[in-house]
Amino acid sequence: MVMRKKIQRLLDEIESEYRFTRGMTGKAMLGPELRRAISNTPRDKFVPLASIDSAFDNHPLSIGYGQTISQPYIVAIMTDLLELKADDVVLEIGTGSGYQAAILSQLCRQVYTIEYVEELAEQARTRFERLGYDNIVTISGNGFDGWPEHAPYDGIIVTAAATHIPGPLIEQLKAGGRMVIPVGRTYSHQELKLVIKNQQGDIDVKDILSVVFVPFQGERNE
Ligand code: SAH
Repeated sequence: MVMRKKIQRLLDEIESEYRFTRGMTGKAMLGPELRRAISNTPRDKFVPLASIDSAFDNHPLSIGYGQTISQPYIVAIMTDLLELKADDVVLEIGTGSGYQAAILSQLCRQVYTIEYVEELAEQARTRFERLGYDNIVTISGNGFDGWPEHAPYDGIIVTAAATHIPGPLIEQLKAGGRMVIPVGRTYSHQELKLVIKNQQGDIDVKDILSVVFVPFQGERNE
């Protein structure tokens, strides 16, 4: 199948899952900007060579080091829930392949992204340079502490399942900002949560969907 067809099929599958989950997410269909970002992002350049034939399937795929590139529907819905504006600054925890960051970078001004596994951070950095994503900055480290230098963030997205919402990330969220994060102790019990900080700095947390993410590493007790 030619690439254009594969991407069209992927968009159709994401749209169908959107309709199926609209009662939980409040999102019935892909907006034009997110749709364009998905169409323009070559997922085949973010997966290992061995998985290249499945690159445009609506599934997570292994990227080595026990980690995965998220399912495209999940990337789409998490991005959507952030309700980004063109001038926004976003923090991502869990760079992985860099695919999620690449999508975000087309919908906001600047993406900062932290990856625990140094090799993956380096690979993602090379990938961003080669593909020309020049508004993404990657570092290797423990995202539990966030990245205070660039805070506060309009949006924060965590792509590994934590047992609780890290305090430093709540602190680094701007008033009026949104965070999406999977929370759960085991693979079988994880809930994608949407955290909204109001203008007074109070937070409201909503459960959106059951999800399956790799575990958050290096979580600290608070
Ligand atoms: N957003 C990625 C998904 C990667 S899977 C993509 O689009 O491909 C989740 C990633 O989170 C893994 O690469 C894992 O190493 C990373 N991770 C887990 N705990 C972390 C932590 N405390 N800080 C930063 N990254 C973390």
